[in-house]
Amino acid sequence: MPELPEVETIVRDLEPRLTGRILRAPRLFKPDVLRRVSPRRLLATLARNRIEQVTRRAKHVVLRFKSGHRMVVQPGMTGNLLVYDRPLTAPERRYVVFLSKLDGKATFVYRDVRRLGRVWLLDEAGWRSYTARIGPEPLAPEFDAVAFAARFRGTRQAVKKALMDQQRLAGVGNIYANEALFRAGIDPSRPANRLGPVALANLHREVRAVLGEAIAAQGTTLRDYRTGTGRRGGFQFALHVYGRGGQPCPRCGTILQTTHLIDGRATTFCWRCQRGP
Ligand SMILES: [Zn+2]
Repeated sequence: MPELPEVETIVRDLEPRLTGRILRAPRLFKPDVLRRVSPRRLLATLARNRIEQVTRRAKHVVLRFKSGHRMVVQPGMTGNLLVYDRPLTAPERRYVVFLSKLDGKATFVYRDVRRLGRVWLLDEAGWRSYTARIGPEPLAPEFDAVAFAARFRGTRQAVKKALMDQQRLAGVGNIYANEALFRAGIDPSRPANRLGPVALANLHREVRAVLGEAIAAQGTTLRDYRTGTGRRGGFQFALHVYGRGGQPCPRCGTILQTTHLIDGRATTFCWRCQRGP
């Protein structure tokens, strides 16, 4: 699933192309992605509505409209969000979930081959309760090491699982949890409340560093993820451990281990570099 850096990349690509534009004739082709909104209400609300702001929250793209509504899209593993400045070709029309002409010639498209994505339409009250349920943004300037440590106090959950818990911290999924723990030299199975202040400070620094570097590389494309202009990301070439089980550790040469025992997901780590104190 696209994590914070991938969704941030999509948002940065869409933002200049969508802000201030009016949706003309929005159409929904696959209503099964909708959550808690009917196709009729979605389309009636969005038609002739102006997009005032394009932002990201956690792993979701958030379009705020003049009416005060927000269309929230979680693209999922196979979802792409794109703006075309020309008519779509027949292959580009395949798997289209949602499409709208914009004022001018452009077309805004959400395409999703396996339809693992989700779309919500929230009013002000719905938005406030949605965003209140999600943890802080790890790249927010005020999210310092003290704020980070506070999110992990009092849980015996494995630190990797805690990192990926969206109520604790927004936007980190399996790829960047694996990478940040390796870079910080922390055993992913270690209970979060057993981490000392130095380990927590290291993890805070490495979470922010790896997310920042991945944004600079426009995200990680392992299969289907594309940027908001349809290109592949570049961070797959900079991964240290994720997807590299059985290969040598880039730091010490020990063979990297993969386990599914921590949270059911693939966790790849170096037992020598990530032993911890
Ligand atoms: Zn190592």
